[in-house]
Amino acid sequence: MRRYSAFAIAREAFRYHEGWGRAWAAPEPKKSYDVIIVGAGGHGLATAYYLGKNFGITNVAIIEKGWLGGGNTGRNTTIIRSNYLQDPSAAIYEKARSLYETMSQDLNYNVMFSPRGVIMLAQTHHEVRGYQRTAHANALQGVMTEFIGPERVKELVPIIHLDGPRYPVLGGLWQARGGTARHDAVAWGYARACSDMGMDILQKCEVTGVVTEGGAVTGVETTKGKIGCKKLGMVVAGHCSHLADMAGFRLPVESVALQALVSEPIKPCMDVVVMANTVHGYMSQSDKGEMVIGGGTDGFNNYTQRGSFHHIEETVRALVETFPMISRLKMLRQWGGIVDVTGDRSPILSKTPVEGVFVNCGWGTGGFKAIPGSGWGFAELMAKGYSPLTAEFGLDRFREGRFIDESVAAGVAH
Ligand SMILES: Cc1cc2nc3c(=O)[nH]c(=O)nc-3n(C[C@H](O)[C@H](O)[C@H](O)COP(=O)(O)OP(=O)(O)OC[C@H]3O[C@@H](n4cnc5c(N)ncnc54)[C@H](O)[C@@H]3O)c2cc1C
Repeated sequence: MRRYSAFAIAREAFRYHEGWGRAWAAPEPKKSYDVIIVGAGGHGLATAYYLGKNFGITNVAIIEKGWLGGGNTGRNTTIIRSNYLQDPSAAIYEKARSLYETMSQDLNYNVMFSPRGVIMLAQTHHEVRGYQRTAHANALQGVMTEFIGPERVKELVPIIHLDGPRYPVLGGLWQARGGTARHDAVAWGYARACSDMGMDILQKCEVTGVVTEGGAVTGVETTKGKIGCKKLGMVVAGHCSHLADMAGFRLPVESVALQALVSEPIKPCMDVVVMANTVHGYMSQSDKGEMVIGGGTDGFNNYTQRGSFHHIEETVRALVETFPMISRLKMLRQWGGIVDVTGDRSPILSKTPVEGVFVNCGWGTGGFKAIPGSGWGFAELMAKGYSPLTAEFGLDRFREGRFIDESVAAGVAH
């Protein structure tokens, strides 16, 4: 792989930028691989990357029915934070957040990680108590967060209106090293590194069946023919129930569309990320100046992957109360992505009833922030059969009632 550097840019400037190679190869499928990962979103690509980097497993194919990063990874609002309540969540999200800190250097790809700080607004007394509890839990977990009062919120977000009629701002949970990253770049950076290790990324290739023999996986049926494998990782977010169905088991997951929109670009006015979970809206300003606004999920299960007008109206109406200035903005784009939601709002990283088949899903509305930590832990689980990062997130927890309840930290927001 040709390294990206200031020197490389200068060299290419002198030859009309004709020397840049393709970032990743476009191979034809081999007959079989040691490991197949289905889904070239952030989680699938990160899993493949850490299989190669941490365990030397490089005879790997990542199979994607569309284009890499074209699922939720390329549709999310890119909020990164690790202020969850339960210990297993704090461990995996904080691992992910810390890997984001050095991701650009590790991948030699600028993922534009911007640790600008994230505030989760407390707009009811219940939320004040909930976030104070989270701040205490985070202190014990080694995750740096603090509960701040309304004056400090105003200092950090001058455009905020503290005294809204329905939901005044009573404080907030502040994580100074939370922030955002460029979502496509995360997928592209991992893809380039995987391709460089000799892995095959097979785009426009849909998995249509899982082939098993004596209760163990032997391969997959795809639109490009049958491909053999010894281990199979299903990392397809909102489509995980379909894949599980192909392998003959069910998952406790619901798929729904989650909504987002961006405004026209404006001058810099807000340099932190603000989440208002009571009114189901959150906002950050992109480097281009657009206000990136996330909303809630559609109220019914679906796979439509497009924006819904009533939701956008609801989200913006609620946010205008806390940010009156956005009432004068024009909306530029809206969209939706199909997210995979579990009952306890925590992910599933697990072995399955089929030997050799592993599943990584259930990240719901908040899995972008987890990509590197999830990839790290899931690769370890696939390579060694156990990972301390994923141990609590097995499918067994639904049978045994060991839920990891993150409905306060995750809710419908991120
Ligand atoms: C609007 C919106 C806003 C969000 N905001 C945030 C946020 O601010 N912060 C945050 O942390 N998270 C956020 N999320 C959640 C986050 O985007 C997801 O949790 C995360 O991107 C999931 O990544 P993934 O790799 O598991 O799935 P995906 O990126 O969806 O990748 C799965 C891939 O599998 C492929 N696939 C499916 N079926 C098949 C098949 N049969 N064969 C081959 N390939 C298949 C799909 O085409 C897709 O590319 C948001 C999501 C949405 C939709």
